[in-house]
Amino acid sequence: TVSENPGSGRSRILVFVRLRPLAKKEKEAGSRCCVRILNRRDVYLTEFPHENDYLRLKRLRGRHFTFDASFPDSATQQDVYLTTTAELVEAVLQGRNGSVFCYGATGAGKTYTMLGTVENPGVMVLAIKDLFTKIRQRSSDGNHAVHLSYLEVYNETVRDLLSPGRPLVLREDKQGIVAAGLTQYRAYSTDEVMALLQQGNLNRTTEPTRVNETSSRSHAILQVVVEYRVKDASMNVVNRVGKLSLIDLAGSERALATDQRTLRSLEGANINRSLLALSSCINALVEGKKHIPYRNSKLTQLLKDSLGGACNTVMIANISPSNLSFGETQNTLHWADRAK
Ligand code: ADP
Ligand code: MG
Repeated sequence: TVSENPGSGRSRILVFVRLRPLAKKEKEAGSRCCVRILNRRDVYLTEFPHENDYLRLKRLRGRHFTFDASFPDSATQQDVYLTTTAELVEAVLQGRNGSVFCYGATGAGKTYTMLGTVENPGVMVLAIKDLFTKIRQRSSDGNHAVHLSYLEVYNETVRDLLSPGRPLVLREDKQGIVAAGLTQYRAYSTDEVMALLQQGNLNRTTEPTRVNETSSRSHAILQVVVEYRVKDASMNVVNRVGKLSLIDLAGSERALATDQRTLRSLEGANINRSLLALSSCINALVEGKKHIPYRNSKLTQLLKDSLGGACNTVMIANISPSNLSFGETQNTLHWADRAK
């Protein structure tokens, strides 16, 4: 879905927005919805929600955004999966690489979108389910092997979420940059996957100072590698490999909040280097720059072979409807707008 523009070398990134519903507790506390989505594309934002503001805002330019698709709070998990990721699953079966990111502030719905719940599984689970369905349909023309790895980048430390322990070291080999010793879980069906991923998610690093806001600074990366062996016309065995990376990014609030601070407090706050580096890489890709600064963080090193180039990249910006999150929502929408 990312089309390389041969003239300029630009990569097009598909950018989606998903609005989560206002929670009952938020309603009871007096929060009001400050976002409206129209035509499944246009996002209108108002700081002081009143009925007429949306109409007035339609005439203003600043707070109106348009994306490849924008999901209202009624959108289902299936809906989001089909529109954002289904094509990438097909591409991976053709031996290509692709990646899907969820970006947004803590509480905006990233983990719900990526992992979901047992009743409403998210993109990670639906992608694997779809992959197995497609493989079963084609099982006559070759052998497929599916391997999963699930890892975390937290404070520039890489950890295996399927087998927690010591930090993993990144090494560069012929295949690219790999995390040495990372568990490659051979998956045979969808049933086992949800439990595996939920357990992995529990292994994400929680912040000591914010026990209730789990994993808001950790990036969780699920990599699904599909290997496909088939004999070609001259009976040579051809090995095709495609990789899908699904990433539940750290909360974007701190990375943005630190923009205005001095260098010293930036260091003190231990800003999310990986999130900033990802932003730089995406901006460089969409601007068609020759040099993409992958080396600046662990996250971008790990995803080097799955961003830009012949690869497909999808960004889902998650936003909260609450007027209390107006500032974060505006930041997220501006960020997503620059990724287009
Ligand atoms: P994040 O991972 O961005 O911090 P979460 O995914 O944990 O945010 O979402 C915050 C809360 O909102 C959770 O309780 C989650 O279940 C709920 N939520 C998020 N998105 C939706 C949605 N589309 N439908 C219903 N509940 C949602
Ligand atoms: Mg989360």
